[in-house]
Amino acid sequence: MANASLVIGNWKMNGSQALTRSMADALRAAVPSCGDTKVVVCPPYTLLAELTRHCYYDGIAVGAQNVNANENGAHTGEVSLTMLKELAVEYVIVGHSERRAMYGDDNSAVAAKVTAVTQAKLNAVLCVGEDKQQYDAGNTWQVVEQQLQAACAELTPEQAAKLVVAYEPIWAIGTGETATPAQAEEVHANIRQWLVKRFAAIGEKIEILYGGSVKADNAAELFAQQHIDGGLIGGASLKEDQFVAIVQAAQ
Ligand code: PEP
Repeated sequence: MANASLVIGNWKMNGSQALTRSMADALRAAVPSCGDTKVVVCPPYTLLAELTRHCYYDGIAVGAQNVNANENGAHTGEVSLTMLKELAVEYVIVGHSERRAMYGDDNSAVAAKVTAVTQAKLNAVLCVGEDKQQYDAGNTWQVVEQQLQAACAELTPEQAAKLVVAYEPIWAIGTGETATPAQAEEVHANIRQWLVKRFAAIGEKIEILYGGSVKADNAAELFAQQHIDGGLIGGASLKEDQFVAIVQAAQ
């Protein structure tokens, strides 16, 4: 039994109105038999309203892939938490490695976003993880710990209750190469220990997801690990049958 409590799909810059509707239909059919597993879909901003229209009343939560930490103002091209809330968004991915690498989301920007999202009482999905070089050098935990420390520096325990951590080794994202369940489990156990030390009892409850080439055929084994509470799914969340199978593997 996996008993994974949370599966999140990250569509990145993919998808369409048609996929939003067909994914909503596929998930709507599957989710009632998925017990307590919460399913979240994070499409691009332009598809949020359509997803909310199709999912909101059916136990499928809507998530965004990013947000601007400012309340409003002269931030051309950006989207605020208030705007996301108007669309019934409940989860916001923060610090995805693609944003860290390509869009200037350094540790301090990530911290500001995590603080703003949790202050607004939305769930912040904080992504952490090492690149291949750091992995090969044996520095995985050092990198992950630094990212956690920086992102959680300002968080109160009350805000931490709205935190989700996604461990995503960068070398496993979109590559087809997955951390073995044992490798992932070791990092997740360290993250759990860190969260409990930092946030006491609340740290026990923060969900820790694994992300990096999770597919229908490897999800169950990953989700069966003691400290893996679910998955952050990229490529496979764009295919209805794959994503439904991953959600089902969470049971
Ligand atoms: C991701 O982008 O968060 C991710 C895990 O992607 P993929 O599942 O495609 O590796």
